[in-house]
Amino acid sequence: MKIDVLTLFPEMLDALNCSLTGKAREKGLYLLQCHNIRDYSRDKHKKCDDAPFGGGAGMVMMPQPIHDAICAVDPTHSAKRIYMSPRGRVLTQQLVKELSQQQHLLILCGHYEGVDQRVLDMDIDMELSIGDYVLSGGEIPAMVLIDSILRYVPDVLGNSQSTEDESFSQPLLEYPQYTRPQNFCGLTVPEVLVSGDHAKVDQWRREQSLEITRKNRPDLLEK
Ligand code: SAM
Repeated sequence: MKIDVLTLFPEMLDALNCSLTGKAREKGLYLLQCHNIRDYSRDKHKKCDDAPFGGGAGMVMMPQPIHDAICAVDPTHSAKRIYMSPRGRVLTQQLVKELSQQQHLLILCGHYEGVDQRVLDMDIDMELSIGDYVLSGGEIPAMVLIDSILRYVPDVLGNSQSTEDESFSQPLLEYPQYTRPQNFCGLTVPEVLVSGDHAKVDQWRREQSLEITRKNRPDLLEK
């Protein structure tokens, strides 16, 4: 999979060089390229934002540098072009799975009050939100999207079962997990998990999943 990120702050994406996403990048399991939108500004001061027409707070990202960056990075429109935006469709595990099937993603990160509507109308396929709250820029949302998608890319996860058993992959949230030691500060691991009876373990986990979902996300049970 190839991922191009368009941003005013490419260094923020360096965080993807850590942990699972970093290892996958080293192994060449995906190709990530970050492009500085400022490099495409035709303004002599490399300006990329201006005041909004009609007045109002903050600045808006200008269309020219973004449009030129998109045309340079994806000239034939082979990529699925996504603008990270709080007003977009909300990201879910199902959507993550669908997007992981794409060969090429182009992710546009906004800043300030957002992006001139014309470049979105001209160049963007979908707006995507990571939840009902507002962040100061699209870089963290882009990293959330990339991390979640990469978990479905073959060989990125050590154990391919992991995505199948997790929260949201089934309609329920995940059951509690325990590891060594068996006794920690006087708190012991539930007996069933050390019983060696796999059927009982499965039943216990399902009951726990139901209980946690009922408590924290009853809306998932309704679905
Ligand atoms: N004025 C915009 C609005 O009310 O919808 C918010 C702009 S926000 C301060 C700046 C940028 O952060 C956005 O252009 C977007 O790229 C990113 N962003 C903020 N919250 C986001 C979210 N929940 N999901 C995805 N991107 C988000």
